[in-house]
Amino acid sequence: MRKVSSDQKNNIDQLTYKTTNVWDSGFAKKDIMDFSEKYKLFLDKAKTEREFVKESVILAEQKGFKNIDELDVSKLNPGDKVYRVVKNKLMLLAVIGKKPAEEGVRIVGAHVDAPRFDIKPNPLYESTDMVFLKTHYYGGIKKYQWVAIPLALHGVIVKADGTVVEVNVGEDENDPVFTITDLLPHLAKDQYEKKLNEAFKAEDMNALIGSEPLEDKDIKERFKKNILALLNQKYGIVEEDLISSELELVPAFKARDVGFDRSMVGAYGQDDRVCAYPALIAITEITDPEYTAVCYLTDKEEIGSVGNTGAESMALENFIADLCAMTTNGQYSDRLVRNSLSRSKMLSADVNAAFDPNYEGTHDKMNAGYLGKGVAILKYSGSRGKSGASDASAEFLNEVRRLLNENNIPWHITELGAVDKGGGGTIAMMIANLGVDVIDVGVPLLSMHSPFEIASKADIYATYKAYHVFLK
Ligand code: MN
Ligand code: MN
Repeated sequence: MRKVSSDQKNNIDQLTYKTTNVWDSGFAKKDIMDFSEKYKLFLDKAKTEREFVKESVILAEQKGFKNIDELDVSKLNPGDKVYRVVKNKLMLLAVIGKKPAEEGVRIVGAHVDAPRFDIKPNPLYESTDMVFLKTHYYGGIKKYQWVAIPLALHGVIVKADGTVVEVNVGEDENDPVFTITDLLPHLAKDQYEKKLNEAFKAEDMNALIGSEPLEDKDIKERFKKNILALLNQKYGIVEEDLISSELELVPAFKARDVGFDRSMVGAYGQDDRVCAYPALIAITEITDPEYTAVCYLTDKEEIGSVGNTGAESMALENFIADLCAMTTNGQYSDRLVRNSLSRSKMLSADVNAAFDPNYEGTHDKMNAGYLGKGVAILKYSGSRGKSGASDASAEFLNEVRRLLNENNIPWHITELGAVDKGGGGTIAMMIANLGVDVIDVGVPLLSMHSPFEIASKADIYATYKAYHVFLK
């Protein structure tokens, strides 16, 4: 057996991998708490992808970013700040580096959509003197969590003449709210006996929006028509206009501090705004990067990153093509874009499934995300035998690890959960397909995809620091 002298004991101890709780690290508590105050205010204003993009544009313009599609110059210089919005739901921001974009860029990419209930295209009906909106859930939800809570309605209605009406009802404390009802326990005998995933049927999850009729009893559907009259009065719309709308029901409550010590944030939609917001703040604070810094805020991640506002779209390539064209000293060619992508590096900024001691057995504790242990690095996601995983290389993981260590930012290595317990993915795989080195780096969450997700304020701050040093 190897003998260890007393002076060797310390050295031996240094051989082991250890994690640090962020509260024990060098960050000032005030910085941690102040960051989350601003984060909570932003969350309350940005409950949908459109709202997040809208608020991000306001912030970016305050910080000197210019719309790349409205520039009157064809050349970008180091330090220039530009942004692009695609279809009001996806956003890209860049701070031009000292090196031309063809030498690669540094990207932090997050998503700004979140699980919710969308309103169906033809949604309005009355039943037993009550009025409802039919819904279609969006993303992976546990349906039972969304009944019997106050819901707010956010979104847009495009009228026949093309004008866009913005809807936001349920956020002001004087606003009405809406709700999807649940059955009383007294009559829930049959419901109790159903499996959790069968107890609530999607087609029965209709939102209650009214119960007062028009006065004239001769009018058919006078409860529904009363709501239509109110909608017409408020928004100037008719029922057919609802067909060209995007309306989302989201929890009506605000982001709150959680715990006597106020150490956590509880809010709707923290997946993935708890990464998107730190990424946004980080890029607005970058001034003179070596490599062009890019923040990528995508939509549709919760349904597979599809469509022209998802990470599978051409949005990133098109943006990098423009950056290459506007920073190259030579002639622009398609090759510059391909070179840029294969030399680029990205942190896929998405949340991590934190270990919950009330639900033992879901994680391998040696490879789990934990609340408070700082930035969660996820080498790969996927399910079963790493199916569908974007598996970051050991070399790139090491670069990220070294960067965080050099900057004293607490981090820990994680898996999505125990092997064969489930699985999932992020936008990492779509961007990795382009040749970019990508790894998932984000905030561990409790109650992910529920109406009230929990994050540690210390982790949020550590993650912001991590994105900042990566882009810098
Ligand atoms: Mn996510
Ligand atoms: Mn998600």
